[in-house]
Amino acid sequence: MTIEKMTPIDEGFWTKPVNADEEIQLIGSKCSECGELFFPEKNKNWCIHCYKSALKKVLFSRKGKIATFSVVMQKPAGGFYHGGAPYCYGCIDIEDGIRIKSLISTDDYDSLKLGMDVELVIEKLWDDKDGNEVSTFKFKPV
Ligand SMILES: [Zn+2]
Repeated sequence: MTIEKMTPIDEGFWTKPVNADEEIQLIGSKCSECGELFFPEKNKNWCIHCYKSALKKVLFSRKGKIATFSVVMQKPAGGFYHGGAPYCYGCIDIEDGIRIKSLISTDDYDSLKLGMDVELVIEKLWDDKDGNEVSTFKFKPV
């Protein structure tokens, strides 16, 4: 994937790389009163856990473990009609202590295991009509 043509599926999920060597991180919020973590970043400043206005922007670790996953054998419907099947979707426990729902990147679905170490990657979903690579975050076994 080339950075110049990379178009995030939505803004604000991850940091924008300035060069190809820069590591991308997911962007979230942390409550400085109770420590609650949120992904994606909340656009309101108040914490839904403790009701204090104390949220700060944070960047999450790129590493985590698979908490749960499903391999989906049916092509996605609706707004995700560009995708193919099979694909894998699950929950990742990020090192920072938050569980994030994510696609899981693999070609070897039988090798996936609960607790498996994974790392953040950005991958192309499809090419749009202008030749941009519409991309999203996923977690990939390491
Ligand atoms: Zn809080």
